[in-house]
Amino acid sequence: MDHVCKKMKPKKRIALVAHDHKKEDLLEWARYNRLLLAQHELYASGTTGRLIEDLVGLRVHKLQSGPLGGDQQIGAKITDGEIEFLIFFWDPLEPQPHDPDVKALLRIAVVWNVPAACNRATADFLISSPLMREEYERMLPDYESYLTRMEHQPLA
Ligand code: PGA
Repeated sequence: MDHVCKKMKPKKRIALVAHDHKKEDLLEWARYNRLLLAQHELYASGTTGRLIEDLVGLRVHKLQSGPLGGDQQIGAKITDGEIEFLIFFWDPLEPQPHDPDVKALLRIAVVWNVPAACNRATADFLISSPLMREEYERMLPDYESYLTRMEHQPLA
């Protein structure tokens, strides 16, 4: 498959999501990286976003709470190119009412090749990468051939 490039500016548009038992973890991480995160544009699922605003003091575009559709909103924004970076501390030990949405968000992050961290160590490596401060050409598969796949086939 061919590739196309999508430019990521130095100021990244980052989504932050944490399941309930992982919220403390994400808050601690965000507090530690507050100055770095302040250089970017932040989005979050509703409750995660409110906690980051109230307890860390960062400005966040808050979407709906995850179980009420927030994960799907983030996925849609990734698809539309409005979010290009995902920090998602999901809970591996707890079933969630919105498990299908969680899976969908993780899938769509791969479809659009956005950097995605699902635990603190990966988030540490990502946030401290020199690429966070630079423009970056994110390679995407060229989905054009997929989109035109049925064009010359007669309908049954
Ligand atoms: P919340 O959603 O930030 O609204 O709690 C997170 C999630 O469960 O996806």
